[in-house]
Amino acid sequence: MENQLKLHIKELESAAAPLSPDRNVREAMDHVMQDFAQDFLDGLTNRKAYFSFDSMHGKLEHPEKETLDLPGILRQLDQEMLNQGLNPASGGHLGYIPGGGLYAGALGDYLAAVCNQYAGIYYSGPGAVKLENELIRWLCRLMGFPATAHGNLTSGGSIANLIAFTTAREARELKASEFHKQCIYLTSQVHHCVHKAIRICGMREARTRFVAMDDRFRMDPVDLRKKIEEDLALGFEPFIIIGSAGTTDTGAVDPLNELATVAEEYHLWFHVDAAYGGFFILAELEDELGHPLKNKFLGIERADSLAIDPHKGLFLSYGLGAVLIKDTTSQYKAHYYRAAYMQDTVQAMEELSASDLSPELTKHFRGLRLWIPLRLYGIEPFKAALEEKILLCRYFYEEIRKMGFEVGSYPDLSVCIYRYVPLQGDADAFNAALVEHVVQDGRMFVSSTTIHQQYWIRIAILSFRTHLREIDLYLEIIREYMKEKI
Ligand SMILES: *Cc1c(COP(=O)(O)O)cnc(C)c1O
Repeated sequence: MENQLKLHIKELESAAAPLSPDRNVREAMDHVMQDFAQDFLDGLTNRKAYFSFDSMHGKLEHPEKETLDLPGILRQLDQEMLNQGLNPASGGHLGYIPGGGLYAGALGDYLAAVCNQYAGIYYSGPGAVKLENELIRWLCRLMGFPATAHGNLTSGGSIANLIAFTTAREARELKASEFHKQCIYLTSQVHHCVHKAIRICGMREARTRFVAMDDRFRMDPVDLRKKIEEDLALGFEPFIIIGSAGTTDTGAVDPLNELATVAEEYHLWFHVDAAYGGFFILAELEDELGHPLKNKFLGIERADSLAIDPHKGLFLSYGLGAVLIKDTTSQYKAHYYRAAYMQDTVQAMEELSASDLSPELTKHFRGLRLWIPLRLYGIEPFKAALEEKILLCRYFYEEIRKMGFEVGSYPDLSVCIYRYVPLQGDADAFNAALVEHVVQDGRMFVSSTTIHQQYWIRIAILSFRTHLREIDLYLEIIREYMKEKI
C-alpha cells in the first residue's frame, strides 16, 4: 500500500520533470531567448512604431492545446504580437506617455522572476523589502518629502493614485454616510484614473468640483479658494485637492505651492499626480522666462501624497509606479490585515512591509528593475535623458510653428499640442487625417486630444530612445504630407 503510494508519487514527479530543466536545457533556452531579444533591440531603429492591424480574432488562443518549442513560441510572439499595434519600445512612440523599457531594468525583472523573492513581507523577504523601502526613501528625498514619509511601489500610476486616495479617506476617518458631503477639487485636465480611484474607493457620491484653469491649463488658485468658500457656505466638507505635476494632455504643471497653501489654510488633503512629470524635477534647465525649471515643482514637497511613475520618467518597462505618503499611519490603517495563517510574520517591524501598505499581499519584486539601473548608471544619465526630452520638445514646438501650425502654450515639460488650420475646410478633419496618415505610415506614432471642443495633435517625448533623429523624421513626414495637401 505504502509502496504503491510512493510509486505513484514518483511517476508524477517524472511527468512533471519538464518544469525543472537542467542547466544544459536552460542554457539552450537562454541562447534562443537572448538571440531573439538582441535581434529585437538591434532591429528597433528600423522597426515601425505602429503596425496597423485588423483583428486579433482567432490568434493566440488555447495556449494549452498544442505545445511548441521555444523558437516556435518566439516566432508566434513576433508574428502575432510584436507586429500588431503600438510598439512601445520604439523611439518613434510619441503618443500618450511613452517610456521605453531599459534593458538593465529588464534584467532586474528577469532576476526577480528567476529568484522569486517575496517582496510583500519583511519577515519572509527582508532583503527584497529593504531594497524596495530604500527606493521609496530615495524617491521621498527626491521629492523633498521628510524621512518619516513612506509609500509603496505599485504596478503603475493608477494604483498609486488609488492608494493615495484610500489613505486620504482613512485619514479623515470618513464614514459612507458622509461621502456625499465631501468635495474633491481638481481640473478637467486631471488624469482619468483619478476619477476611477474615487469610484473604486467607494466615494462616487462625493462632489467633484472642476476648478477653472489659466490659459496654460493650470489650476487657478483663486477659483479654487472661491469654490472651497462656496462649498463651506453650503455646508459641504472640502476634502482633497488634486494637483498635477505634468498633465497627460499638455504636460501642464499646476501652481503646486499655491495649491499647498490653500490646502493648509482649509485643512484639506493635498495630493499631487506626478505620474508623468515628477522626474523632471531632476532637470537643471531654465524655463522660457529664464527661471529654473525646478521652480515649477516648488510646493510638491508640501503634498500629503504623490503619485509618480518610474515606468514613464525613468524609462523602465511597464509595471512600476510609486505612491509617496506622509501619513504612514493612515496608509497602514487603510491597508493592513492580520490573518491567523500569518501570525509568524507580525514580529519584525523594523521595516514596513508592502503588504501592510497596499492592496497586495504576494507581489512582484518590482523594485529590482529600478535598483539595477540606478546602481549601474547612477542618476546622471537619467538626468541627461530627461533634459534632452525637454529640449527636443522645445525644438519641435519651434519647428512645427515655423511650418504654419497653430501651437498650444509653450511646453512646461515634454508634451505639446498643435494643429493646422487650413484656409478652407474643417480643421478638425484635416488634423485627424494627418494623424491617420502618420499612424498608417507607422514609422512614428502620435495621438490626439480634444481641447475646448477642438481636435489637437499631441507630441509626448519621453522615450529614452527618442532623439533628434526621430523628431526630425517626424517633422519630415509632416512636411511631405503638407506639400501634398496644401
Ligand atoms: C500615465 C498617467 C497616470 C496613470 O498611470 P498608469 O501607470 O498608466 O496607471 C496617471 N496620471 C498621469 C498624469 C499619467 O500621465
